[in-house]
Amino acid sequence: MPFCPNCKYEYNKDIKECPDCGAPLIDKLPEESFEDSEYVPLRSLPSRLYAEMLAEALKKEGIPSMIKGDDVGIMLGSYSTTSPVKVTIWVPEGDVDRCEEIANQMLDHI
Ligand SMILES: [Zn+2]
Repeated sequence: MPFCPNCKYEYNKDIKECPDCGAPLIDKLPEESFEDSEYVPLRSLPSRLYAEMLAEALKKEGIPSMIKGDDVGIMLGSYSTTSPVKVTIWVPEGDVDRCEEIANQMLDHI
């Protein structure tokens, strides 16, 4: 599916230009920019649900994160109801301290 590189919206495949900003659509969002920064594992969580909650909390702070599980590798923004696996949340190296704080705060309430 084509994406607008500016708006990050996904469009129908017969659309060639972004209706919002007029930029030519690209086939895929470049994932390199996401993988360019050094990601380090923040902590392991007992289920994907916790990882999703933490990822959501980090997102609110403007910190991107990756969730890696034993089952599917990298899954972003997906919900899995499969049997419990150990999932690890990865965050940009420079944000680890802040993420640690957020994680501690959040996991206290679980
Ligand atoms: Zn656009």
